[in-house]
Amino acid sequence: MKVMLVNPPRVNRMSVIREERCEIIERNSVLQPYSLLQIASILRNRGHKVDLIDANGENIDYPTLEKILSGKDYEALIFRFTPTTFDEDMKVTAISKKYSKATTIGICYTLGEFAKIVLDNAKYLDVYLRHEYEVVTPDLVDKLSNNGDLSDVAGIGYRCDGEIKVNKNAKPIENYDDLPLPAYDLLKSFDYYYVSTKHGQPFTIMYTSKGCPYSCIFCTVANTKWKARSAENIIQELRHLKKIYNIKTITFFDETFTVDRKRVEKITNAIINEKLKIKWYCNSRVDLLDKVLLEKMKQSGCRAISLGIESGSQNILTGANKKASVEIAAEAIKMIKEVGIKVNCSFIFGLPGENWETVNDTIKFVSKTLPNGAQFNVAAPYPGTKLYNIALENGWMTKQIDFRNMYQHVSVMRTDELSPNELEISRKRAYKLLYFNPRWWIQNIRYVIKNPDDFILASNYSIKILTNFIINKMNYSH
Ligand code: SF4
Repeated sequence: MKVMLVNPPRVNRMSVIREERCEIIERNSVLQPYSLLQIASILRNRGHKVDLIDANGENIDYPTLEKILSGKDYEALIFRFTPTTFDEDMKVTAISKKYSKATTIGICYTLGEFAKIVLDNAKYLDVYLRHEYEVVTPDLVDKLSNNGDLSDVAGIGYRCDGEIKVNKNAKPIENYDDLPLPAYDLLKSFDYYYVSTKHGQPFTIMYTSKGCPYSCIFCTVANTKWKARSAENIIQELRHLKKIYNIKTITFFDETFTVDRKRVEKITNAIINEKLKIKWYCNSRVDLLDKVLLEKMKQSGCRAISLGIESGSQNILTGANKKASVEIAAEAIKMIKEVGIKVNCSFIFGLPGENWETVNDTIKFVSKTLPNGAQFNVAAPYPGTKLYNIALENGWMTKQIDFRNMYQHVSVMRTDELSPNELEISRKRAYKLLYFNPRWWIQNIRYVIKNPDDFILASNYSIKILTNFIINKMNYSH
């Protein structure tokens, strides 16, 4: 079958990340459509013919995309969309239907529980691929190219005789190592892609594992099977990236990179032994790091670790089922900085129990621990999360929620004591206090003095912080 993969254009001239749990507008980063590259590779291995247009990466607008698509011959069009860019992203289906009879297939992780609503709201979307794209896509495309009967394709919602049908969930992939290397060759250039600044190119994101065994009430990934690639398999991809693209920087996009300590040791040892010379970044948890491991990570090129701290109040953490303590969080930040790795922390205002006292606990925590970077969000009650049900039961949502409004800077829910507006004020106050904290600037300047190769990254980042703060009011900026 001839398959066209499309990463839709940017929205309001801002880049969009359309990757599993991370489906957001992000003005400061342009990422490879990694999951589409994986799909391309899986489908090619099964004999399908695949083409890719990364409109977001190449900054192709809709009129240009229409010109390109009108001249292409394909039988299925697969694209990713996000909740907040839904109406924009769906323009891809309207364009496709104008010129082609191809089946339109949209992928979005966050709205997986809302398949019927998604299809109701997207009249040119034929199939919503809502679950485990690694497993569902090959099954779906094979079925489309045989008899077109989709009734037993797990993990989709679709239209059939004027009705919307939602099939059961798909099983997670059994062996993540079975996936072929992503079809990087379909990207026109690596020059388009970066996080925060173009310093450090060639750059890519990469998954080494997916899912998370923890059960934080706000998280769309909570309670999902942790599926990991072996260290050998990861190194194979790193070697390929080094050899063919001379890759210099990698963000491991896993929810929690350090779930398996031994695996991280093997990866770091291999990076060191094979002299791959990459700078890399990852996400972790405060209780899944120790000094010895951090030193090894640093030695192999780890430059920054992102931690979801969420709150400086133990009551909030306990209520959110974070299964972490404020003390351990503070200790982890200290330890990471001592090793010489930067630590970026994210916080959420508006989890159950939030009030002015807990907001102040978080602000004090940030001022005390001084992470190198911080991201402050308001709680977004994503469908399928426990927080969504709690917010509904307690009447905390401002109205029956429209998934298009699920931003991390605009609050759609309140807590018992704070209004959505007060939560947004808390978020901005936290940014303001951090950015006007001279100790924070001194600490980060000291880091740059010790690590001069970080100078361009740090100075570009500082300019972006100030621009975001003054002009963009910290909207769409992480
Ligand atoms: S540890 Fe992180 S990825 Fe896992 S459920 Fe909690 S917030 Fe989600």
